[in-house]
Amino acid sequence: MHISAIIAAGGQGRRMNSSVSKQFLNIKGHPILYYTLNKFEKMDELNSIVLVTGEADIDYTREKIVKRYRFKKVELVSGGKERQDSVYNGLRKLSPQTDIVVIHDGVRPFVPRQIIESSIAAAVEYKAVGVAVPVKDTIKVVDSDNTIKSTPDRSTLWAMQTPQTFHYDIIMKAYEKAMAEGFYGTDDTVLVERLGFPVKIIEGAYENIKITTPEDIVLAEAFISVGYGNYRR
Ligand code: C5P
Repeated sequence: MHISAIIAAGGQGRRMNSSVSKQFLNIKGHPILYYTLNKFEKMDELNSIVLVTGEADIDYTREKIVKRYRFKKVELVSGGKERQDSVYNGLRKLSPQTDIVVIHDGVRPFVPRQIIESSIAAAVEYKAVGVAVPVKDTIKVVDSDNTIKSTPDRSTLWAMQTPQTFHYDIIMKAYEKAMAEGFYGTDDTVLVERLGFPVKIIEGAYENIKITTPEDIVLAEAFISVGYGNYRR
């Protein structure tokens, strides 16, 4: 079986209030993207890794990440305006002999290796799988003047993470339909939902945060101190 990963790292980090894109910020001596890629690079079951970065960041990433850390499986591809455009560019770079595609955010370095493995195993069986955690907070639907419209039952709500893992044919079909129709979603599974194909959820981990805003850096430093950045975790 041929398994490929797409690591989406084409974002500009506007919510980080920083001139450096968040995936390149250093935490305890290494860029965030190093910790993420290291987990995937070391997994023997993964055949290839497509790393998508902004066009302007390609040379920097090649030197400061791929060469510096001697990542052997990583191929660089330039991203697009939205995350969906970036992942689509990555998908089009995959070898057509790919069976399973693992899509992961570059800014989620703390994903436990065992969750990547479980998502692959589940995708072999169910064809479309998202990693998610039950929400801890009560979630409200709010209208444009900040008035609550409704309160969905919390026991039915899950917060989506990555990896999101698919059979190659299904995710390609889902992306091609969305792109042809000009539909943009905020994760990959929604594109498969639009095909009418059932998507399974497997339980993720609360430490698998998406490093997005400045306080996430403080959390990330603490997580690395306790070993969550290591391959074995
Ligand atoms: O935008 P968001 O914070 O949801 O980004 C999630 C992931 O998608 C990040 O790792 C980011 O680098 C990536 N991304 C991308 N291309 C974009 C925007 C975001 O690969 N145009």
